Formats: sequence, C-alpha cells, structure tokens
Amino acid sequence: MKDLLYRASKPFTELDSEKLSKFEEFTRIMTDVNKSMNITAITDSMGIALKHHADSLSIISTGLFSSDKKVCDIGCGGGFPGIPLKIAFPQMYINMIDSTEKKINYLKNTACLLGLENIDFTSARAEELTRPEAKVSHREKYDIATARAVARLNVLCELCLPFVKPGGYFLSMKGQKAPEEAAEAQNAVLQLGGKIKEVRKINFTLPEEYLSLPDAAEFCNSERYIVIIEKIKKTPMNYPRQYSAIKKKPL
Ligand code: SAM
Repeated sequence: MKDLLYRASKPFTELDSEKLSKFEEFTRIMTDVNKSMNITAITDSMGIALKHHADSLSIISTGLFSSDKKVCDIGCGGGFPGIPLKIAFPQMYINMIDSTEKKINYLKNTACLLGLENIDFTSARAEELTRPEAKVSHREKYDIATARAVARLNVLCELCLPFVKPGGYFLSMKGQKAPEEAAEAQNAVLQLGGKIKEVRKINFTLPEEYLSLPDAAEFCNSERYIVIIEKIKKTPMNYPRQYSAIKKKPL
C-alpha cells in the first residue's frame, strides 16, 4: 500500500517514509473501527489509499497550503481531506468539524494514536459556529476552509465561506458535476464575499505496472475537481442563515 500511495500522491506531494507509515497506521485503524462503526464504504486498503488518501492529498496541488496556515475541514466525516493534509503538513493547524459527535470522537482517538498535534475537533453544525450568537465564534478566523462530499456547492458556500478570512480560500472537492455546480453557485459565492478563481480538474496518474489493477485504472480515469473560491470581502452578518432556510432557498 505504501508504494501505491507514494506514487499516486507524488504529483501533489512527496511523502517520506515516516508519513507513509502514518498513512498505513491510519488505514489500519479506520479498517478496524469500520467493522463496528460506519466510517467508509471503501474497505480495501488499495481503495482507501487511492480514493481517500491520494484524493485528499490532491488538494495540495492548489499550492495554498503551508505550515503557517490555519485550516478548517468542514463535514470532515471519517477525516477527509483533513487527516491526510495534517499528515502531509505536521505543523499546520487544522480544526476538524463535523455535526456527528461519534465521528469526531473516532477522529480524536485516531489523531491521538497517530501522534498528531496542533489539531482540534469540533462537533457542531458548521453554520452554527459562525452565526452571531455562537459562544466561540469561528467567523473569518481561517486562512483555508476545505470540504469534500458534504453538500451541493450553492448550499456548501453558505456553510463554509463565513469561516474564511478575507484574502483566504474555500476549497471544495467535487466530482464530475463541479462545472455545473460552480455555475449554479455564482450568486451564492458573490453574496457571501467570494469569487470563483478556478474550477481545477485533477489529473491522477500511476505507473504502468499498477494500471492492470481495477481500482487503479478507475482512480486514474475518475473525474475530480477542486473549486477554488477566494474570499475577497467580509461575509454580510445576515449569513449564514439557519440550515432549514439555506436548504429551502439556496442563494
Ligand atoms: N468529508 C468526508 C469525506 O469526504 O469522506 C465526509 C463526507 S460525508 C458524506 C458528509 C459529512 O458531512 C457527514 O459526516 C456529516 O455529518 C457532515 N455534515 C453534513 N452537514 C453538516 C453541517 N451542516 N455541519 C457540519 N457537518 C456536516
């Protein structure tokens, strides 16, 4: 699994042996816990290496991450893309946010076993953390917010953009519908103080010897995108709305 992950993630970041061992341990913990708790539908180590770890690491190709950045991963679920990012940048601060307490508890335990530091875990609905009545406000406190597979982009922008400082970025990891979702979310992005900079297609590659493996071929052919949204001004205080309103009438 280590060699496959090394090669699949090499276009984005070069993992040393210590980081590769952490990924191996992370996979072992996830596979083990997944027997009694629903963390992922992908259960084989090759699938996890490609579709979770390497896919998460592809976000590094934006060139926006470095050790001094303050990042939040919204709707992190079983830890993607936040935990792979944290392994790749051990000094970088990251707050893992999810509304499901069970998943956050699993991640706390996993991070402890992996020896990850400078990482926080927040079990709450994202939109409640940036509203004026929030006890501890996370509003415009982060350089980068990430989200993978959480909601349609026009809804997701209202959950995520309020976390980002002006000058920072919201990075949304999406499948083949990214261009369509980005077009649909133009108004939401504008209202929330953002600007879509790019809908970037990710190119996954693997050496020839791996391509006969079904998961590897599927991975290299998968259509994956990162929607790069820059925060160009503060989000008006009337956003985010309550989730029911966001969902009922996306901006
Ligand atoms: N990002 C992970 C991944 O790519 O594997 C998990 C994706 S999972 C399909 C979506 C996650 O978003 C769930 O764990 C869910 O609890 C979380 N979620 C959905 N809406 C949320 C919200 N408003 N605030 C915080 N978490 C939310």
